[in-house]
Amino acid sequence: MKTAVAIIGIGILLVGALVLLSQTMEGSFLRIAAYDPLPGSKERPQLLTFGMYVTPDPAQNPIAPPERFIGFHTALDLEIHQNEVDDDIPVMAVCAGEVIQSGLVSGYGGLVVQRCNLQGEDVTVIYGHLDLDSLASSGATVTSGEKIGILAPANSEESGHTRKHLHLGIHKGHDIDVRGYVQTKEELENFLDPKEVLDL
Ligand SMILES: [Zn+2]
Repeated sequence: MKTAVAIIGIGILLVGALVLLSQTMEGSFLRIAAYDPLPGSKERPQLLTFGMYVTPDPAQNPIAPPERFIGFHTALDLEIHQNEVDDDIPVMAVCAGEVIQSGLVSGYGGLVVQRCNLQGEDVTVIYGHLDLDSLASSGATVTSGEKIGILAPANSEESGHTRKHLHLGIHKGHDIDVRGYVQTKEELENFLDPKEVLDL
């Protein structure tokens, strides 16, 4: 009798553990499928976050060497891992919608701007420092999770002469505003924090 109770008890525990495990796995798969702009975004270094005020002074800049810009960063930068310097790192759309700008932009190198709706809000999403040959074309409609380019090599014209990384900005509304930095907190309110919106 005691053995039977023990077996039933263990059975219940096993079923419970399996249910918990499947829910956890489902959650992570859904998140990656819907929102991951780079493979494993959540595990990547995030040195330059949304709203951070930077100057070229190393004391006021988390990047070494510091970038040349001054102002509040309007985006989230996602870095590569040290062993990815020579790898093709795919950049994926974080939402479904139309590409409305695609090409070379000063400060960014290759840039894609996408119009979409995120959690009920109309936005434009900015993906900066991409390889020019890899960009999704203007006018293309892409789905969430679809590849829209690869990261440009460090210190090339296509990366805007900076390190290999993704600048991911979300601007409120459907007007194009590709500014990576703004000078006032009021202007910053026209942008959303990708880390919060996309749970990165
Ligand atoms: Zn940036």
